[in-house]
Amino acid sequence: MKGLREFLEVDLEVEEEVSLDFEVSKILMDHYKESVLFHQPKGSNMKVIGNLVTSRERMCSALSTTREKFIARVREALKNPLEPVVASRSPCREKVLKDLYQLPLLTHFKGDAGAYITSGVVFAEDEDKGRNASIHRMLLLDENHLAIRLVERHLHAFYHRKEAEGEPLEVAVAIGLHPSILFAASYSFNGFEDELSLAGALAGEPVTLSRGESVSPAVPSEAEIVIEGKLLPRERTREGPFTDITGTYDRARQQPVIEVTGITTRENPIYHALVPSSMEHRLLMGMPREPSIYEEVSRVARVKNAALTEGGCSWLHGVVAIEKKGKGEPRKAIEAAFRGHKSMKHVVIVDGDIDIFNPWQVEFALATRFQAQSDAYVYKGQRGSSLDPSAGEDATTTKVGLDATVPLEGGDNYKRASIPEVEK
Ligand code: MN
Repeated sequence: MKGLREFLEVDLEVEEEVSLDFEVSKILMDHYKESVLFHQPKGSNMKVIGNLVTSRERMCSALSTTREKFIARVREALKNPLEPVVASRSPCREKVLKDLYQLPLLTHFKGDAGAYITSGVVFAEDEDKGRNASIHRMLLLDENHLAIRLVERHLHAFYHRKEAEGEPLEVAVAIGLHPSILFAASYSFNGFEDELSLAGALAGEPVTLSRGESVSPAVPSEAEIVIEGKLLPRERTREGPFTDITGTYDRARQQPVIEVTGITTRENPIYHALVPSSMEHRLLMGMPREPSIYEEVSRVARVKNAALTEGGCSWLHGVVAIEKKGKGEPRKAIEAAFRGHKSMKHVVIVDGDIDIFNPWQVEFALATRFQAQSDAYVYKGQRGSSLDPSAGEDATTTKVGLDATVPLEGGDNYKRASIPEVEK
């Protein structure tokens, strides 16, 4: 299947030597709308690509869709998963690297704990649940150890099961992949559905898998870099602080450790640098949540489209456009949207005439169609996002839903003025 190289469009090339400590992340943040290829990262002979996915449009083009049809495309792919196949050749095994120090790992922000891998998809297997693919940040500890942040989801469950038996969990980390795989690995399934079958359906061809070498989990054969290793049982280390999607610091915690057992790459590999809180990070983390918001709200209203907004870090704020039929619908839509994405704190419900991708139009709806007295719904003591610094202990937060739809009895006052064609 397609790899990063088949998708890659380079907007800007940096030929001069650049430092992996802050300089690369600064250039990527300053040029967040351009994909940037660095030819000479200091201390590594590997090229670095950043801002691979710079816009919603580019992400949609990677999935062969448009921003209007994106959710329908994902829903269709979920209904028609395409299972991976065994690769006939494995470009990701062309070269062997000695240790992690040969990789161009970035230190992104002042105050971060160190150099991090942020675009690595971690593959693991469980006897009962099958294969899992998920993205985790990994802190460089030394030449063959990484700390890995595990939130309480699938990989966390696999690891704890092994740890209870006193066994390590074998993992393979693939870096430098087609966006369809990055998207699928960020998709939040309720059960243990196979992320790679979603990636295949979105890419329009099955993911081709290369067998593990020093560990069991297979990886996409077109990966630029593969790190194999073991999550050690009963081993924890300090991980963090780390700048996350909101551009604020996530605190340090005690987290598991990966011991590296082998690293292979393609010939002349390209390392994918994903700067936390960049547009790319927001799109990759936020967009996979939009179909489930749509799904939940669809149970209570006719949904035109749903999105997490970039201004709300593509995580905390959402907008849902509905074709309102009944009076109670906006309120139901608000509550459903919060069910669809549990980290969301504020959601605005608008009518179908509002372009939800245009913040000015959403604000227009709030300015002219909303009265806080009757249209604001406040939910105290909710479980929100741990990434929101204003949330309390255990991410406790107050959620607010805003009904910015025209009242059904609306009338002419709400009509948007138009200018007739002038005949000449
Ligand atoms: Mn999973």
